[in-house]
Amino acid sequence: MSKEIPYKIYLEEQEMPKAWYNVRADMKTKPAPLLNPGTKEPMTAAELSGVFCDELVKQELDNDTAFFEIPEEIRSFYKMYRPSPLVRAYCLEKKLDTPAHIYYKFEGNNTSGSHKLNSAIAQAYYAKKQGLKGVTTETGAGQWGTALSMACSYFELDCKVFMVKVSYEQKPFRREVMRTYGASVTPSPSETTNVGRKILAEHPGTTGSLGCAISEAVEVAVGSEGYRYVLGSVLNQVLLHQSVIGLETKAALDKYGIKADMIIGCAGGGSNLGGLIAPFMGEKLRGEADYRIIAVEPASCPSFTRGKYAYDFCDTGMVCPLAKMYTLGSDFIPAPNHAGGLRYHGMSSTLSELYDEGLMEAVSVVQTDVFKAAEEFARVEGILPAPESSHAIKVAIDEALKCKETGEAKNIVFGLTGTGYFDLVAYQKFHDGQMDDYIPTDEELKKSWAKLPVV
Ligand SMILES: *Cc1c(COP(=O)(O)O)cnc(C)c1O
Repeated sequence: MSKEIPYKIYLEEQEMPKAWYNVRADMKTKPAPLLNPGTKEPMTAAELSGVFCDELVKQELDNDTAFFEIPEEIRSFYKMYRPSPLVRAYCLEKKLDTPAHIYYKFEGNNTSGSHKLNSAIAQAYYAKKQGLKGVTTETGAGQWGTALSMACSYFELDCKVFMVKVSYEQKPFRREVMRTYGASVTPSPSETTNVGRKILAEHPGTTGSLGCAISEAVEVAVGSEGYRYVLGSVLNQVLLHQSVIGLETKAALDKYGIKADMIIGCAGGGSNLGGLIAPFMGEKLRGEADYRIIAVEPASCPSFTRGKYAYDFCDTGMVCPLAKMYTLGSDFIPAPNHAGGLRYHGMSSTLSELYDEGLMEAVSVVQTDVFKAAEEFARVEGILPAPESSHAIKVAIDEALKCKETGEAKNIVFGLTGTGYFDLVAYQKFHDGQMDDYIPTDEELKKSWAKLPVV
């Protein structure tokens, strides 16, 4: 044993990362480029700059620069809620009676309640620096919209959020948090855009989807002077900003001489996982160290474990660039009873490439098991976890129990991405025994793959 490990490992303010790390710089095979849906040619910076801020376009397309300095204004915002603690889950270890050492990086200590603020503040900063009036975006469960509203109010930017209709209706409190920070929130699909009207005509009564809200937000950004679109996950730039999670985790582990054996994270579009694993994956790619890296996804939206690695549309309205990724098809919508988040049909193309090369693993878990793990965790560690985060908890517990059988004292690190205060309807369903586990059939997946673009 080296130093005694505290319950919470905090870095000093001056130990916070000064640069984001871009894992693509160390990848031999780079992630496939975004394609123009019309010409099927790689998107150029000029084409992308109609949709995204200039500086973010540069970050999106840069596969070679390993470190991007974090601007001072962003670092000072980060200081309001970072560094985030790396917690040794002593109580969970005791409860499981495992020889494993379990650590979690907790990103829920800010009002948005999740890691999404790490990228929201960066994206708002670059929009402000470019002299824009505002940004548009979509939000599903509302964490991204909340984070972006906070970031926009900090930099005095207008923020228009298209919120998936079912969430808009079921999560009125999220909506009000966003409005408190000055954002306008429109339920999607809406009558305010061409693509929204088209989707409503084709699917009357639809409760919406992320893919559909993205199409509306992009349409408004492209059609409004001084506006750009921002996205909270999936893109390379978002993974870059989220590397702050992994860099802090690595610094905290190094401070106490701890070597992680496995790193576990939940995967929706891949931003928290991509950020958490970035410096570890970098070591792996450079042949300096080895780690097991595990992505956890819902069995009801299994992009990695059952998806196809192919070019696909990022949105339902097919207005966005095409991305090569593990995908369930852009029409895929998880069953309505799915309550655990992580409902995007695709996956970060960087993580898709790393997974395809066998550099990381993926598992899928059913939602009743996820909520069981959430409850078990909450009862001993105190924090009420977000359902998304609880996917990682579930697999961390499973791995710790395997260590109990083998007697190995492995170091398990997982990402606890946020808190679940706005997810209590889902918790209620779980407690009332009204939650079931719908898993899509092969036929359903085949049907949505039939619409994959030909590239
Ligand atoms: C959005 C979100 C996720 C999933 O998104 P990724 O881009 O895959 O990280 C996970 N946990 C929480 C709390 C979230 O808000």
